[in-house]
Amino acid sequence: MVNPQRIWSSPNLPTLPGVAIQLVELSKNPETEVRQVIEVIRNDPAISARILKASNSSYFGLRSEVTTIDRAVTLLGTTVTSSLALSFSLSDQATQKGPMQEHFRLFWRRCIVQAAAAEVIGSRQDPDLSAEYFLAGLLIDLGQLAILKTAPHDYRKVLEASAAKKTALIATERELLDFDHIEIGTKLMEQWKLPKTFIEATKTHHGNVPSISRAISNAGHPLAAAVAAAAAVGESLCSENKVEAIQRFFDLAQSFLGMDRSAGEQLILQVNQKVQQVAELFNVNLDDMGDPADIMAEANEQLAQLTMREHVNSTQATMRHEVAEQQKRDLEDKNRLLQQQALHDPLTKLYNRNFFDETINREVDRCRRVAAPVGVIFLDVDFFKKLNDTYGHAFGDEVLVRLANLFKETCRTSDVVSRFGGEEFVILVGTPSENGLQRLCERLRTRVEIEPFKFEGQPVKVTVSLGAAITIPSRTDTNTAKVLLELADGCLYQSKHEGRNRVTVKSVIPEPDRHLIGLVSQHRFSRFLVTKNVIDIPNISKILLECPPQQVRVGELAVQLGYLVPEQVTKILAFQEQSGDRFCQSAVRLNMLTGNQVVHLLAIQQEDPRAVAGAIIRSGLIPPQTVATYLDEYQRSHAPTPAAALA
Ligand code: GH3
Ligand code: MG
Ligand code: MG
Repeated sequence: MVNPQRIWSSPNLPTLPGVAIQLVELSKNPETEVRQVIEVIRNDPAISARILKASNSSYFGLRSEVTTIDRAVTLLGTTVTSSLALSFSLSDQATQKGPMQEHFRLFWRRCIVQAAAAEVIGSRQDPDLSAEYFLAGLLIDLGQLAILKTAPHDYRKVLEASAAKKTALIATERELLDFDHIEIGTKLMEQWKLPKTFIEATKTHHGNVPSISRAISNAGHPLAAAVAAAAAVGESLCSENKVEAIQRFFDLAQSFLGMDRSAGEQLILQVNQKVQQVAELFNVNLDDMGDPADIMAEANEQLAQLTMREHVNSTQATMRHEVAEQQKRDLEDKNRLLQQQALHDPLTKLYNRNFFDETINREVDRCRRVAAPVGVIFLDVDFFKKLNDTYGHAFGDEVLVRLANLFKETCRTSDVVSRFGGEEFVILVGTPSENGLQRLCERLRTRVEIEPFKFEGQPVKVTVSLGAAITIPSRTDTNTAKVLLELADGCLYQSKHEGRNRVTVKSVIPEPDRHLIGLVSQHRFSRFLVTKNVIDIPNISKILLECPPQQVRVGELAVQLGYLVPEQVTKILAFQEQSGDRFCQSAVRLNMLTGNQVVHLLAIQQEDPRAVAGAIIRSGLIPPQTVATYLDEYQRSHAPTPAAALA
């Protein structure tokens, strides 16, 4: 870090020679006459000689030779002459011998480029004031000169670091010095009493678009934009931070000069020509200056690379996103598969034993609550070992898969068809009747018997033996499922023993329950339709496959139908808790439901008449109007009087 005080107290701080001070003063007064300017310049023979020489240079391109200072000032105008005088005195200060010589040379070269650029831009913005623009461009980096002269060793480090890292000098100054050349430069300009417009424009020459916009609107003059653009050109042609700087120039040219990239490129080439002339005037060597065409080509290439990189990045991001999404989908698929595998048998795709065990316990609980019957059927392929031995294991597998599909087709969708293991299957049948279960078993048996299995074109006989059991879980029994399975297994054993390809069904329904089930079964809408000859048994059986039993409780149903009010349901439940009876039994004992009502409730709990009617209509077997008429008749003739009416 450098203490800025060191700069201000240094004897090496740049000074303005007397002639320059006077010219600056005169330039501020609009009343100033040419004569006064000539007077001042004449007093400094060295400056006079250089102005004469300048007025004869190609830079001004005057037609005839100029031999007197009066003529030079008259021809060039007072502003140009003053500007030249100031430039020459700066040029002197920027020319140093010794170890810092090269840094001074580079600094001054950059000033020249910036002055030329500001003039070219100024000639578009404000042709009458191009000499002022030139001077402003020349002075914007005055602060650098001050630091170079007063803290050369520290500043050398800054200059070298900035070149090595190819970063903006101003940023390196702030990083290594804790102040920058703008602060120093503008303060010095104030001390020199330079025009306020110059000072304000200098303040923002490395600023961003909004700060420059503010400076322009405060000054009511576009000089700030011109010097900022000129500074960017200077940086791009004279520093290592070329590409970033030229990009900055294009941005500024677009924002403030309304120039697109190609117009900006034209402007840079124009500046380059001007720089050659100015360099001649100030005797500056440009040999090692960057070629603007090369720099612009490099900038364009970097821009293309950047665009490409952005494109690649965004493509990669999209790809990464897609890969992540795919992984997520894969994981979801895998989870689904795992779940599927956890619940299903891989060969037949039926539920596996795990799933069956869980489900039977849940179903038994449900049936216990609603006093509904539950049934299981075991099926075992007859002489399957022989079939395997004769036709091979692969054919055995094929038979198992075909059987699995036959079983599924023959049962209701709500029945749980599972592979129990090997060539043994088990079916959990929801809400069957004793006869219904018997019939289902028989249907399964014949379905297999008539299925034309073939091996290499030759018919193969496949049969199954079945054992089934049905019960209504009691409220006190805790191992109903186990008992039911053992019972069904015993029946299967009996079927095998009695010659195979046969059905054995056992019911462990208590006599009162059996009686009730019989009544309930008689009372169902499907039975009503069959007895009225509206539909035949095979068709209604098919329809019923689509109608799973209702999950609603009897108490809720009784409230829905108006047999009970909710308070009565609460009382019945409390009584049931003490007695251990079923809900309907308790309700009858409390005289809250009649036997007929119970039968009706259980019938519609097992088989929702509206659902059955809907399924019949969907099947297209019977016209909707007819179905509606029978549904109406069923409800009128079967529905007992509500409890309220009884009471
Ligand atoms: P039974 O009529 O008394 O049931 O005689 P069975 O031959 O069918 O009964 P057993 O239990 O003696 O033999 C069952 C055979 O089923 C033995 C086993 O190799 C075969 N098996 C079990 N699982 C599979 C399977 O996934 N695929 C095939 N192809 N065969 C199987
Ligand atoms: Mg077996
Ligand atoms: Mg077998």
